[in-house]
Amino acid sequence: MKLHNFSAGPCILPKSVMQKASEAVLNFDDGLSLLEISHRSKPFVDVMEQARALALELLGLEGKGYKALFLQGGASTQFLMVALNLLEKRAGYLNTGTWSDKAIKEAKIYDDIYEVGSSKSAGFNYIPKGYEIPEDYDYFHCTSNNTIFGTQMKSFPDSPIPMVCDMSSDIFSRQLDFSKFDLIYAGAQKNMGPAGTTLVVVKEDILGKVSRKIPSMMDYKVHISKGSMFNTPPVFAVYVSMLTMQWLKDLGGIKAIEEENEKKARLIYSEIDLNPLFKGYSVKEDRSNMNATFTLENENLKETFDAMWKEAGINGLNGHRSVGGYRASMYNALSLDSVKALVEVMSELESKA
Ligand code: PLP
Repeated sequence: MKLHNFSAGPCILPKSVMQKASEAVLNFDDGLSLLEISHRSKPFVDVMEQARALALELLGLEGKGYKALFLQGGASTQFLMVALNLLEKRAGYLNTGTWSDKAIKEAKIYDDIYEVGSSKSAGFNYIPKGYEIPEDYDYFHCTSNNTIFGTQMKSFPDSPIPMVCDMSSDIFSRQLDFSKFDLIYAGAQKNMGPAGTTLVVVKEDILGKVSRKIPSMMDYKVHISKGSMFNTPPVFAVYVSMLTMQWLKDLGGIKAIEEENEKKARLIYSEIDLNPLFKGYSVKEDRSNMNATFTLENENLKETFDAMWKEAGINGLNGHRSVGGYRASMYNALSLDSVKALVEVMSELESKA
């Protein structure tokens, strides 16, 4: 039985959320399924409004000029939507991994992009520091957590221009001053809900400044004016995201989950550092609390180790195909006990070897 899900997504959710979600599929509104009611009906409009409000509340951004949207097309659509809505002349991007690289590629379709810093030549195993953000650019874009290589920005610059951040793989996992950001986006499928919706939190006053015509579906202002219901929203993904945010709020919010996430990260990284059979991939100071990447020092032990963790009920530990090795993804809903189970297997391997 697969008991401990370390998969990089999608998606690990609290069991209580899964339970409520499955009940809503059978009976959400007086015998009707969540999947068959109108998205314009009051019960679903309430869900959407609650989801938008909870996102702002958890991030501490209520009443500060931000709007929350639940859009479709994944975080990948945000790569181009950000550029379409904000890029007039030039933008600065911090290149910290595969996803930043893809965001840069999409934005380049529309205009000039300057990489303020990049760790590409080092296999993205660190976060560049000491870079400068030009004051006359349209915006600065960064990726808070590098899901594939396992690095995480521990601090953010005081940007003189609007700061846009892809928080797909660490949204709601740690306390930050979210008001430093003018636009945050995150695919739901790591810390929030099923794949199919993307949270966008945008400060309204940065919009409407580009000269190009923006197709309606790509225009944040259109989605804001329609209360995130310009077209049929992904009702199930939004509902489950709302349940997960409610779960997080009841738990004590981001502060409470951050403490758990730090315990989990300390446990796995101390094993990686103390156990001579393993080696961490990324530099210590930039290690991600969400995705711990590591390799075996001796590849001959791979077969034994793989059999051991599978036997212990662990799932999804293989590294991304572009990196190899192992990746333990420890999103909000993964328990400390699951990390303990993995660490036990790692130390058992040491005693066997
Ligand atoms: N950005 C980051 C940091 C990610 O981890 C991912 C997917 O894992 C994406 C963007 C792409 O998200 P999507 O598949 O929703 O387009």
